Amino acid sequence: MGNTVRQVVKVMEEIAPPYLAEEWDNVGLLVGGMQDSVQKVMVCLDVTEAIVHEAIQKGSDMIISHHPVIFERLKSLRSDTGRERLLHLLVRNNIAVYCAHTNLDKAAGGVDDVLAARLGLQDVEPLSFDQRDKLYKVVVFIPKRHEDAVMEAMARAGAGWIGNYSHCTFQINGTGTFMPLEGTNPYIGQQGRLERVDEVRLETVVLSSQLEDVIDAMLKVHPYEEVAYDIYPLANRVKKHGLGRIGRLPHRMSFDEFIEKVCKDLGVSSLQVAGWIDGEVQVVATCAGSGASLINKAHSSGAQVFLTGELKYHDAQAAAELGMAAIAAGHYATEVFIVEELVCRLQKAFDALQYEIEVFAAETMADIYTTVGK
Ligand SMILES: [Zn+2]
Repeated sequence: MGNTVRQVVKVMEEIAPPYLAEEWDNVGLLVGGMQDSVQKVMVCLDVTEAIVHEAIQKGSDMIISHHPVIFERLKSLRSDTGRERLLHLLVRNNIAVYCAHTNLDKAAGGVDDVLAARLGLQDVEPLSFDQRDKLYKVVVFIPKRHEDAVMEAMARAGAGWIGNYSHCTFQINGTGTFMPLEGTNPYIGQQGRLERVDEVRLETVVLSSQLEDVIDAMLKVHPYEEVAYDIYPLANRVKKHGLGRIGRLPHRMSFDEFIEKVCKDLGVSSLQVAGWIDGEVQVVATCAGSGASLINKAHSSGAQVFLTGELKYHDAQAAAELGMAAIAAGHYATEVFIVEELVCRLQKAFDALQYEIEVFAAETMADIYTTVGK
């Protein structure tokens, strides 16, 4: 039996849980359908015209990209204008597109982790994380034989994610009792008679940002008219997921040396640098892509240098005024390493699952900027 987009999406969502995406973002399956069949997955940063032609030429039936192929609200779907023409091409060639953006930035082993690793940072932690996140324990009582369906629905909505593990639950068998009263329409039993039912007590953990979705998903598949469930706030520390990273260089170095190292590590010949560090550098904050929103956080976290993909003039100025050096190394250069990483992780996961899916990095990816002059 062939493999489907749904199976690929499931693996991707374990790598980059969709609940990590920023609210303004647009992630997930943006073109194609879950039932579409998949044999060749092409991974890239952006879905450009060259990328779509490469996918067609190589017979790829699914593209996984970092930047969303649809971001702004579509007001038309013409076949003769820029981005919309791409969507036409994709649809006409039955190519599905799945996008993991800010969720992939934040995820463990995602874009920001890969950048920090590339620079050899140690003791790496997220620079900013969602302050709203608290952990809850959700306990639900389920009649036997329905526990898998309820667990699956809750897990898909974000319950039971601990570190890199999904579907973390604890289940214990027991007996539930109830008496349906007048006006009820019980799934099991009769009005006015005490019932004893074999039930499973399922417990799992949920982040506050996912709580509502998890409860809704649970109620949707639970067979009971009145579902018994409990929500307990926990004092456990939440494993931080967030944008940007802060870490230490393995040894102190001069700012000149650090700049040279960044060029080498990222394979770029030039950087935009604002401010300067006269002494030695050791604490570095990073954010792949556009990281201006994290400048203050980087400074308050003790970073001497803030390295990101791109910065506006006044943002770079603000960083330098804080006494921090700011480096813009290029949006593409700070993100591109995630592509090979994703190819490896996906291929490994598909092989382990015995899926007959080939994963490869797009060859036609290119930075939109070229440096000229000099
Ligand atoms: Zn980006």
